[in-house]
Amino acid sequence: MLKGKTALVTGSTSGIGLGIAQALAQQGANIVLNGFGDIEGPKAAVAAHGVQVAYHGADMGKPAEIEDMLRAAAQQFGRVDILVNNAGIQHVSRIENFPTERWDAIIAINLSSAFHATRLALPAMQAANWGRIINVASVHGLVASAEKSAYVAAKHAVVGLTKVTALENATTGITCNAICPGWVLTPLVQKQVDARAASAKVSIEEAKRQLLSEKEPSMQFTTPEELGALAVFFCSAAGNNIRGVAWNMDGGWVAQ
Ligand code: NAD
Repeated sequence: MLKGKTALVTGSTSGIGLGIAQALAQQGANIVLNGFGDIEGPKAAVAAHGVQVAYHGADMGKPAEIEDMLRAAAQQFGRVDILVNNAGIQHVSRIENFPTERWDAIIAINLSSAFHATRLALPAMQAANWGRIINVASVHGLVASAEKSAYVAAKHAVVGLTKVTALENATTGITCNAICPGWVLTPLVQKQVDARAASAKVSIEEAKRQLLSEKEPSMQFTTPEELGALAVFFCSAAGNNIRGVAWNMDGGWVAQ
């Protein structure tokens, strides 16, 4: 379905980004990976789908590095047809104790990076009159939780950016939508599970159960594979006129 297209997925060496990159590769898209940590494992996992894979190590908190990544992707593949703004970090703390450096980093990596990648990817999409921009927001783009001020502020703003991007391109073949996952058991959430297990002096399994029971009626984690399938749907012809939605996949979290 996506043969001949190129997808750039930010923060795709792990978790949800890697799941989405694999799902798009399974449909034939060439992939530009980005993120930190192990590179060779994720590259091999995506290449196993028989597509071309590139990697760029841009720090998504640094606009000049994002510019370099978009330039490199265009040089190698012609243009980016599908942009998935996924890179993100978390910090959990009450506002009065929130380190200002963490606030700045979360706003830069979780929000401003999406603006920069989008502004740089749009002109080539507009010239081709086709494009898909998928912003990985969160249920925290729709509702709040205590002790996540920067994250909740950034994710609500990403949902706003999604709507503006969709409107500005509404008469074109370019769509922009947000995906809003509930709990997904990735390294980002494992840290929160571990912290709860340590502070409540319970097992990891019990900490996971407690985390789910507070927010997620299904008592199930959403998986990167399920989120990858939603991204593929947005890229399909059925998604041609889906514009500016924030689609939660959250086990009933925001239905309450
Ligand atoms: P993760 O920690 O598994 O992956 C994060 C990815 O981003 C990694 O590849 C990491 O290397 C990369 N990254 C981090 N900082 C970066 C930077 N400065 N520059 C470039 N890459 C950077 O986390 P995840 O859970 O897969 O999160 C992915 C996205 O999904 C985030 O935007 C997160 O907010 C969102 N999300 C996660 C959950 C969840 O429950 N895990 C729920 C809702 C939304």
